[in-house]
Amino acid sequence: IERTIETATKRYPLLLGDGVARVLPSLLRSLSCPPGTKLFIVTDDTVAPLYLDEVRALLAAAEYDVYAYVIPSGEAAKSFDHYYACQTAALQCGLDRRSVIIALGGGVVGDLAGFVAATYMRGIRYIQMPTTLLAHDSAVGGKVAINHPLGKNMIGAFHQPEAVVYDTSFLRTLPERELRSGFAEVIKHALIRDRRFYDWLRAEIKTLADLQGGKLAYCIEKGIDIKASVVREDEKETGVRAHLNFGHTLGHALESELGYGALTHGEAVAVGMLFAVFVSERFYGRSFAEHRLADWFAGYGFPVSLPTTVQTPRLLEKMKGDKKAYAGTVRMVLLFEIGDVEVVELEDDNLLTWLDEFARQGG
Ligand code: NAD
Ligand code: ZN
Repeated sequence: IERTIETATKRYPLLLGDGVARVLPSLLRSLSCPPGTKLFIVTDDTVAPLYLDEVRALLAAAEYDVYAYVIPSGEAAKSFDHYYACQTAALQCGLDRRSVIIALGGGVVGDLAGFVAATYMRGIRYIQMPTTLLAHDSAVGGKVAINHPLGKNMIGAFHQPEAVVYDTSFLRTLPERELRSGFAEVIKHALIRDRRFYDWLRAEIKTLADLQGGKLAYCIEKGIDIKASVVREDEKETGVRAHLNFGHTLGHALESELGYGALTHGEAVAVGMLFAVFVSERFYGRSFAEHRLADWFAGYGFPVSLPTTVQTPRLLEKMKGDKKAYAGTVRMVLLFEIGDVEVVELEDDNLLTWLDEFARQGG
């Protein structure tokens, strides 16, 4: 499968399928990277033993000058310290403005390596090689960032990749919890834009075990198409791109409040989507035919309520610090109906009441 991702500032190819990593050398040549170009692979210590040698060998055989940098696996690597260490390694390897960074891994590697690429010598090129289901979302659209203890993705840039090379054979080693995490973003894409895809998901993906082969590929393809269509319309998030934040206002607050990595990104977003639906029902004064969304989510093993340890006033504070908030007013993406969302400003006391109700009813 091939797509062209288009934004206001750039067009780039996305290749998706089993074994597409093989096209990397010819892709690089088409990006005018002659043999001898320095390539800096960033990956993590889970992905490295699985796929680094294969990718390195492929590139070395095409006579590229290949370096690799391995970060610890997990959300904690999206930190200023790891960002700085990666820049140091890039300088020590002598990367120059023609060098290309290759992000081989999930969203953490993609976000960190992409932010290094965005800022190294004021910006060099990079290629996304996603290895998780979640990365169907993170590898497309050019948002790159690291976390700050005070908030998720607070330090970052818009920097589009030169290409996305999504070899689905790499997904076979993905643990179930990570498959679940990525599936949350697939569900998000369906909920915000595509009623038919939502119906398909409910009919075809009964359990996580259904996420393989053609069905998994279809989820990735649909997710990417929805993400790409939103980004095409609004690269820098002045409008509809904010819809992609559905479930993320509470989701990000939870990740930051519980400590990065306590919940996977998708688990936090799943709870956040249920809360967004809960708020939508109150805000619009209607109840969804899909009221049983929580049961559907629980069937995949998602958490469907707030952890009992979290304090709702603290969550509200984190939500007010979200990048989408203006002047401390929380702006949440609400679901009017499946496939139809809008951004709504909410008052603190309403939100706190709803957070408390949501916490009490247990999802
Ligand atoms: P991740 O990169 O941490 O990967 C999840 C885990 O799976 C890690 O432990 C990793 O080592 C392991 N792993 C990766 N590929 C594997 C494979 N093929 N086989 C076995 N194990 C493998 O996390 P993620 O879930 O891919 O991404 C989450 C991050 O993405 C979050 O930081 C989130 O904020 C970010 N994100 C960014 C955007 C964006 O637009 N930039 C969008 C959505 C999410
Ligand atoms: Zn997300």
